[in-house]
Amino acid sequence: NEIQARSILQEMTPYTPGKPIWEVQRELGLDKVIKLASNENPLGPSPKAIEAIAKVLPELHRYPDADASKLKQVIAAAYDVDMKQLIVTNGGDELITLVSEAFIDAGDEVVVPVPSFSEYRFAGLLMGANIRSVPLNLDFTYDIEAILRAVTARTKIVYLCSPNNPTGTILTRKELQQILDNLPKHVLVVLDTAYSHFTTGNEYTDGLEFVRAGFPLLILQTFSKIYGLAGIRVGFGIAPAGIIQSINQVKEPFNVNTLAQVAAIAAVGDIDHVRSTQLLVVEEREKLYAALRELGLDYTESMSNFILVELGTEAKSQYERLMAKGVIVRYGQIWDLPKHIRVSIGLPEENARFIEVLREIAGKS
Ligand code: PMP
Repeated sequence: NEIQARSILQEMTPYTPGKPIWEVQRELGLDKVIKLASNENPLGPSPKAIEAIAKVLPELHRYPDADASKLKQVIAAAYDVDMKQLIVTNGGDELITLVSEAFIDAGDEVVVPVPSFSEYRFAGLLMGANIRSVPLNLDFTYDIEAILRAVTARTKIVYLCSPNNPTGTILTRKELQQILDNLPKHVLVVLDTAYSHFTTGNEYTDGLEFVRAGFPLLILQTFSKIYGLAGIRVGFGIAPAGIIQSINQVKEPFNVNTLAQVAAIAAVGDIDHVRSTQLLVVEEREKLYAALRELGLDYTESMSNFILVELGTEAKSQYERLMAKGVIVRYGQIWDLPKHIRVSIGLPEENARFIEVLREIAGKS
C-alpha cells in the first residue's frame, strides 16, 4: 500500500500508558495484580459521582451540553475564577492538544522541561513546532535561568509541570513569578497542575493568583487524579478570557460527554472524598519514604501521589521482576531515566505489597 502517513510521525514515539490490570493478569496468568503505574486515586471515584452518573443514564439519547456550563459554574465557584476564564476538555490531554492547535504555526518553538510529561512535546511536534528541551537541575528542581534562555522570538508556549511528572518536584511561587516577569509578552505559559492537590507546605503555587492578575498563563487541571475520574476523561483549563476564547475556536462542540460532566460536578462537591484522598496520599508517602530508606534506596521527595525511586543499573530487571510478581509500576526509561522507576501511591496494603516484593527482589528479605 502506498498511503504515506505524515513524515513527522516517524520521529514521534507515541505515548505508551501503563498496562491495564486485566492485561497483565492474562499475560502472566496471575490472579492478584496491583497497578501503581498511572497515578490514579487509590480510593476510587467519589460515590457521589457514581450516583450522578446512574441518574443521568436515561438522558443519553441527548447530546451533551456543548459548553459544559453547569460544570463551569461549579468549577468557577470552587476555584474562584470567572466562567469566561474556563474551558472544559476531554481530559487534560485534550487541553494540551487544543493549546497546540490554537497557538502553534509550523516552525514555532515550544519550550518543555525534561524529564516531564511527554504530551507537551508530542502535541507540539504534531503541529510542526520545534521543541526546545530544558533539562531540570540534577536534583530535579527547575532551572529558571535555562528556561528563560531557551525562549526566542519564535517561542509560542513554555510548559511547566508542577508537581512535575515523573519527579514529584515543584516550581515555587517565586520561580513562577520570576518566569512570568521576565518572559516576552508573546509567550503563553502553560502550568500543568494535574497533581496540585497532593502538595504540602507553602512554597507551592497553583498559579491562580497570576491568572487573576492577567498574566498570559494557562493552568491545566484534571479530574483524573484527586477527583478519581481518570476513566471518564475530563479536565479543564483556567486562563485569561482571551486565551480561552482562542482555544474554544478549535474545540469540537461535544468534546466532553454527559456522564463526564455530571460526574465532575459531583466530584467537585465531594469535599470529604478529596480530603480523604489527600490524607491517605500524604500519610502513605511518608510511610513509603521510611520503607525505601530502610531498603537503602534513594528517592526524590515528592509533592505528588507518586515517587521516583532510584534502583541503579538493575532498575530494568527489577521493574520486570516487580511486574512478574503482579506489581505494575512505570520504568524510568520512558523519561530517559533508565535507573529509576516511578511508583504511584496506592492503598496501604498495595504499598506494603510493593515494598514486600521490592525487598524480596533486592535480596533483603
Ligand atoms: N498532566 C500530567 C502531568 C499528567 O501526568 C497527566 C496524566 N497522566 C495529565 C496531564 C493528563 O491527564 P488526563 O488526560 O487524564 O486528564
